[in-house]
Amino acid sequence: MDNPLLSGFTLPFGAPPFDRIRLGHYLPAFRAAMDAGRAEIDAIADNPDAPDFANTVEALEFAGSALERVSGVFFNLLEAESTPQMQQIAEELSPELTAYEMYISHHERLFARVRAVWEQRDTLTLDPDQRKLLEESYRGFVRSGALLSPGQKREYGRLEEELSLLELQYGRHVLDATNAWTLELDDEAQLEGLPAYLRELGAQTAREKGRNGWVFDLSHPSYVPFLQYSAHSGLRERMWRAYNSRALGGAFDNSALCLRIAGLRQRIARLLGYPDWTAYQLEERMARNVGNVRRLLDALMAPSLPAARREVAALLDYARARGYDGTSMQPWDFSYWSERYRSEHFALCEEELKPYFRLEDCIEAVFGLATRLYGIRFIPHPELPGYHPDVRVYAVEDADGSHLALLYADFFPRSSKRGGAWMTNFRELARRGALEERPLVSIVTNFTKPGPGTPSLLTHDELTTFLHEFGHALHGMLAQGRYPSLTGTNVARDFVELPSQLMENWAYEPAWLQSFARHWQSGEPIPAALGERLVAARNFHAAYFQVRQLRFGLLDLAWHTRGAESVTELEQAALADCSVLPDIPGSCISTAFSHIFSGGYSAGYYSYKWAEVLEADAFARFREEGIFNRETAASFRKNILERGSSEDEAVLYRRFRGHEPDPQALLRKLEIC
Ligand SMILES: [Zn+2]
Repeated sequence: MDNPLLSGFTLPFGAPPFDRIRLGHYLPAFRAAMDAGRAEIDAIADNPDAPDFANTVEALEFAGSALERVSGVFFNLLEAESTPQMQQIAEELSPELTAYEMYISHHERLFARVRAVWEQRDTLTLDPDQRKLLEESYRGFVRSGALLSPGQKREYGRLEEELSLLELQYGRHVLDATNAWTLELDDEAQLEGLPAYLRELGAQTAREKGRNGWVFDLSHPSYVPFLQYSAHSGLRERMWRAYNSRALGGAFDNSALCLRIAGLRQRIARLLGYPDWTAYQLEERMARNVGNVRRLLDALMAPSLPAARREVAALLDYARARGYDGTSMQPWDFSYWSERYRSEHFALCEEELKPYFRLEDCIEAVFGLATRLYGIRFIPHPELPGYHPDVRVYAVEDADGSHLALLYADFFPRSSKRGGAWMTNFRELARRGALEERPLVSIVTNFTKPGPGTPSLLTHDELTTFLHEFGHALHGMLAQGRYPSLTGTNVARDFVELPSQLMENWAYEPAWLQSFARHWQSGEPIPAALGERLVAARNFHAAYFQVRQLRFGLLDLAWHTRGAESVTELEQAALADCSVLPDIPGSCISTAFSHIFSGGYSAGYYSYKWAEVLEADAFARFREEGIFNRETAASFRKNILERGSSEDEAVLYRRFRGHEPDPQALLRKLEIC
C-alpha cells in the first residue's frame, strides 16, 4: 500500500512528506503502526535469551518507532492545521491508543524482564544515560501498579477511574459556575472607565443573549479588564465576589469534590507505596521532595511578603490622594488602582513599540542571537514541503557545518490552528548504533499577518513569546544522546521551562534590542530609554504577584500533604500568615483551582516559581560573564541543552552553574529586597 506515513520519510533530513499525506492515510497508518508496535513488544517479552539491558530496556525504548512517526505528524497537525475530519479521527483513535498503552504497561512478561534487569542494576556496567533509562523504565511500570497484587490492582483501577471522573466533574462545575453568572448593565454611565474594545465586547455578549445594553461575565477576556478599568468600585466588587466564590455552594458546589479528590489521591499514593501524593508526584521532578519545594517557596516568601505589603501600602496612598476612601486596599480595587498607576508611570504603548519589531527583522535577530551564542546557522529550504504555505522550513547547521535539525516555523493565525504559541517535534533525536535520526522541531505562534502595505509587526510580548518558544526549540535542536525519551525537551516538568524562560531575558536587554530593532518606516533605531522602561514595567508590583503565585503553591502543597475537614479550614491554615489584601469571608480559592484539581498541576504548581528561579540564576551567569559570551553559552549548551534528562537535572544544573539554584537570583532580578 502506498501510504507515505508508513513508507519511512525518504526526503532529505528525514522531512515528512506533508504534500503527499491525505486524510485517508491516518487511520490505516495508526492501526498498522500499533500492530507493528505490539509485535515488537511481544518479541521483547518472548525473547528466549536471558533479559539484559540491550535486549529488554533498550529494545523497549526503540519499540513502536512507526507509531511515533505517525503520531508525530498527526497530533501536531491536529493542533496547527486541523479539520473536523481530523478531530473525528482523533476521537475514533483515542480508545485504541489507550488500549495500546495499557497493553505495554500491563504486559506481565515484559515487566518481569525489565524487573530482572533492574534487580541486577548494581552489577551491570552502564553509562549514566543507560542507568537513567533503566530506572525510568522500571519506575514507569511500578507507578502504573505493576508490583501490586491482583486484588490491589483492581482497587487501584477503581480509584484511578473514580479520580478521573471526579476531576472531570470538578472541571465541569468550574466551567458551569463561571458561565452561570453575568453582570447586566443598562446605563451607559455604568461603563465609565472601560476602554472601547471592552464596551464592544459587553455589547456583543448582550446581543448574543438577545438583550439590550451590556453584559459582562466571568470569562478572562471580560473579567480581568473589567476589574482593571471599571471606575465603579461597587460593580468591581460584585464581579470580584462572584468570581472568587465560583463553585462554592450552590448548584455547582466543588467543596465536597475538593476533599474527595485530595482523599483519593492520598489513597492511590499509599497503595503504590508512597507516603503521600506529593511524594508520588515529586519523585519524577527535579525538586524530588516536598522539603526542597518548601525551602524554595519560603526563601522567596520571606522577603516578598513585606515587599508586597509595602507595594500595597504605596498604592493605597496613591489611591487615597485621588479620592479613594478605603482605609485598606480591597481586593476588587487593587487591579483598578494598579492599572491607573502603571499607565501613569510606565505607559508602554504597544502601538509605540510595534513599529520597531518587524517580524522579518525579529526572525533574523533571534536566529542571529543563536548564531552569536552557539555558532549555529539557519538555512532556508523552501523546496521541503510544509504542512501549510505559511510554514517555513530551515535546516539548522552547527558551526562545523554538520546537520543538527530541521526547524519548521509557522507564525500566522488561521482558523485551522488553535490559539497560543508552542514548540513541538515531528521527530525526536534517536541514535541506534551508527544510525542517527536528527530532530524535526517546530515552533507555532499566532502573530499578526502582514496587511496590504504593512509588514507583520510584533508587540514586545510577542517578541518575548518568540524567544520563549525558540528556547524550547534550541533544547530540541541541539540535543545529543541516543534515547529519545531522555533527550531534548523530555525532561522533568519543573526543569523544562529553563531554556525557554532563559531566552526571554534577551527581550529586556538594550544591547540586543538595539542591534536589530529599527522603525520599519523611518529606519530609526529603537530609543535607548525603552529598555529601562521595559524592565521597570516588568517589575511593577512584582512582589505582589510573586506572593500571589507562592500562595497558590502553598495551597497546592497543603491539599496534597495534610488531611482536611473542610475547604475553608484548610485554606485558612495554609494561607493565614501570608495575606497581602484583606481576607474576604465567603471567598475561596480551592473550589475553582482547576490547575490542581482537574488540570494536571497537582503538587506541581510550585514549578512556575521553581523554573523562574532556575532561569534567573542561570541568566545571572550570562550577566556576570557577558550576555553574548560564547564560553558561557557553550557551557549552557554542553551541560543543559545537549543533555536532555540523560542524568538527574539537578546534577546537570550544578555542572552549568557551579551551585544549587539560588532563589536570591530571582529576588534580585525582580528587584525585591
Ligand atoms: Zn514554555
